[in-house]
Amino acid sequence: MSASPEPSDVAAPAADAAVVKARAPENMASNKIQCDACPVLCQISEGRLGACDRWGNVEGQLRRMDPVVLMQRPGVELVPADPATWEGGLLHQDAPVFVSGVASGTTYPDYKPAPFIVASRAQGVDMVTVVTEGIFSYCSFKVKIDTDRYLGPEQATVRHQGEAVGHVTTIEYGSQFLSLGGVHHLTGGSKREGRITCELMERLGNHHAVDLDIEGGAKLTVQASRPPIVNGVEEQRMRVGCGSATIGIFAKQWFGHADEVVVVDDHITGVLTEHQAGKCLDMKPSGIRLRGRKSTPGRYFQVANPGTGWGGTDIVDPLSIIEGWDPKVARPGLQLLMVSTTGEHAQWYVLDDALVPQPAPMPAPIQTVVDRIGENCEPALATVLFLGGAGGSLRAGVTENPILLTRSIKDLLTRVTCGGAQAYVWPGGGITVMVDVTRMPPGSFGSVPTPAIVAPIEFTMRRDDYERLGGHVDRIRRLEDVWAAGEHRVIDWQGDNPWPLEPLR
Ligand code: SF4
Repeated sequence: MSASPEPSDVAAPAADAAVVKARAPENMASNKIQCDACPVLCQISEGRLGACDRWGNVEGQLRRMDPVVLMQRPGVELVPADPATWEGGLLHQDAPVFVSGVASGTTYPDYKPAPFIVASRAQGVDMVTVVTEGIFSYCSFKVKIDTDRYLGPEQATVRHQGEAVGHVTTIEYGSQFLSLGGVHHLTGGSKREGRITCELMERLGNHHAVDLDIEGGAKLTVQASRPPIVNGVEEQRMRVGCGSATIGIFAKQWFGHADEVVVVDDHITGVLTEHQAGKCLDMKPSGIRLRGRKSTPGRYFQVANPGTGWGGTDIVDPLSIIEGWDPKVARPGLQLLMVSTTGEHAQWYVLDDALVPQPAPMPAPIQTVVDRIGENCEPALATVLFLGGAGGSLRAGVTENPILLTRSIKDLLTRVTCGGAQAYVWPGGGITVMVDVTRMPPGSFGSVPTPAIVAPIEFTMRRDDYERLGGHVDRIRRLEDVWAAGEHRVIDWQGDNPWPLEPLR
């Protein structure tokens, strides 16, 4: 238990005009106020909003127009947000709400303490959560698209509304990755490129669909946690594995029902009788000769060009990848299955007297295995992760000695969340966080015209650790005071996220 004062003893933060407000420009009209929540420094007339629509002039006062978002812990009852009826019991139990960074305001020009530094209690331990909206120039979205179809060459430029907004990166197992946004597109190109990139990033982060064009590749519609749409066709299945893996998984189930099976795949096409799986089952060679480059027995690279046909290749007729048959080995009547890695394409053949495969009705046991390939494919989705660099100036809103925050995070004394969602913090230097946007509340992301992305971020730690790292302890507010102020919006906790106020040790 912390030896520090009870949170209820914490005084409300003293107003510190030198810290929170800059002197207005001399030539600014008297009915305007200057917002300094980002470098744009909008001068806002009464009743109007600034350029980002997030801050406004309300009766001569600068206001963050959306209320800060509080998240309700599952299974707790909240008292009404009415100071008149407040009984002050919020801190006598484990904190029933978490103050998120969504709509919390910023620390710009960064030496200002974070807009909310909140004391609460969890399992009897005094905790502090430092809450802000970070302004991120150094940030991007990593998008995983579950598909076998060819989306475009690696390193190809990805465009949105004609502007370069990212590029194609590697293919992982059954998925194509894109990198969208990033500082070079936000600030390194034309003004329009930066603006379009920023709009795209904000939409993607807020769970909206975006249209993308890949140079030399496909047209896509991508939305977090939704099936990707490739060239107008909604993707259904994520492949069960590469061609070689598919052979390995289903070899025993084909054994005794087919003389040969070819699993067509843009990366590794598998041939059952040559593959080690077929060898272990003592299958006889079929005499098939495949196009492409043989890697190892029963595993072929580059049997066709990449495309949106069978197994992510450009082929429509699977027989086009068969170069021929060895007449000394192949025989009339030999039964051949050709199938794709998702089971979406499958054809059964029987060799005629001239050793030419002729289509034939698929036997029931073979159809069962083809259906099982489909059954083993997971639903194809687009997954969107936000990747942002928080190791810079926003740390000054947490502590006067920012390196201590970095160390505290690396030492697992401080938990980092974004809109309540647990963030993965990359090893190495800085505070580079990565978070699944679907674990954050919709509308978490905003933008400013510099251009940059605005995203919520919260640092939660024990109060005594916050004191040790030189935190702005004089700015700590009691959770009950934040609650009693009534200027918030309460949403339900996202059930999959761990509760961030659990003590870290
Ligand atoms: S664009 Fe920047 S300065 Fe203008 S209102 Fe928004 S946060 Fe304030």
